[in-house]
Amino acid sequence: MARMLDFVLGHQETIKKMVESFENGRPGQTFLFVGPGGIGKKLTAMGFAQALLCPSSKRGCGKCPSCFRMSQGSHEGLKVIVPSGANIKMEQAKEVLEFLSLKSLTGNRVIIIDQAQTLNPQAANSLLKTLEEPPEGTFFFLIAPSVAGILPTIRSRSRIVQFRPLTQEELGKKVKAPTWALKAAGGSFEKLAQLQEGPEQEVREKAVEILTLFIQDSDFLLNELWRTEFKDRAQGQRMISYWIGFVKDAICLQEGAKAQIVNLDQAPLIKSLAELDRQYLLRLVQKALQVEQAFGANRDPQLVVEEFYISTRP
Ligand SMILES: [Zn+2]
Repeated sequence: MARMLDFVLGHQETIKKMVESFENGRPGQTFLFVGPGGIGKKLTAMGFAQALLCPSSKRGCGKCPSCFRMSQGSHEGLKVIVPSGANIKMEQAKEVLEFLSLKSLTGNRVIIIDQAQTLNPQAANSLLKTLEEPPEGTFFFLIAPSVAGILPTIRSRSRIVQFRPLTQEELGKKVKAPTWALKAAGGSFEKLAQLQEGPEQEVREKAVEILTLFIQDSDFLLNELWRTEFKDRAQGQRMISYWIGFVKDAICLQEGAKAQIVNLDQAPLIKSLAELDRQYLLRLVQKALQVEQAFGANRDPQLVVEEFYISTRP
């Protein structure tokens, strides 16, 4: 049993400021937590929910039955909404309104809306009034990657709290991972976990293999290997984003900016890339960014890679 806020990694300054505003009395009731995925926004919101629902301490005591139920993720005073499918729909907004109308509950109520950028317009509109003037003792925590996807009307009713990506050191404290993965994770636990999964490692290894062919094999277009691997658009997109990372590293190496190299475990590839002409490398990065977009726009991945190859030949 414990105080959940004590388990949040990083974000200490942000949490401290919020705790102070709660202790000083008028913290606001609707919060919008924004920042990249997988860095602890939801855990922080759960931590504040625990504190708000705790009957014995404003910071949450971590010891009472209420705090215990919160740490188990099930508390009658807490409602967590996540998208069902791609969106948060009207039905879920109704769940929130019903939760707020429950007469049996005494004490504070907390509603966490995860991926709030996916609120569909009807659902958002039905919550507007409540978000604007939540009933006494009701607190909303909306979580989203940035304020951009949030309706201005909701934004203006919220206290916006910006969460920064974690540092490599913070990630490394909690998770044992190779340096390249800590760097490539961009401050996100979620990304770090993905990078370390077996299937993702395989995709990355294939990305290395196929990039090597792309650079060295003049019969690349006749090679079946890459055609098979690029059939799956999503996988193709990830491989291209690894390519961009590798080529950027090679440019850093040419520049002598070794500290900025991310893929430290791929030294042989990075070194051989760095021996290539700078203009060619820049063209690769530029075209690869366009390829990523083309994949996103549903173009045939194999055709896109063919064009990519032809247009970047030295
Ligand atoms: Zn407690």
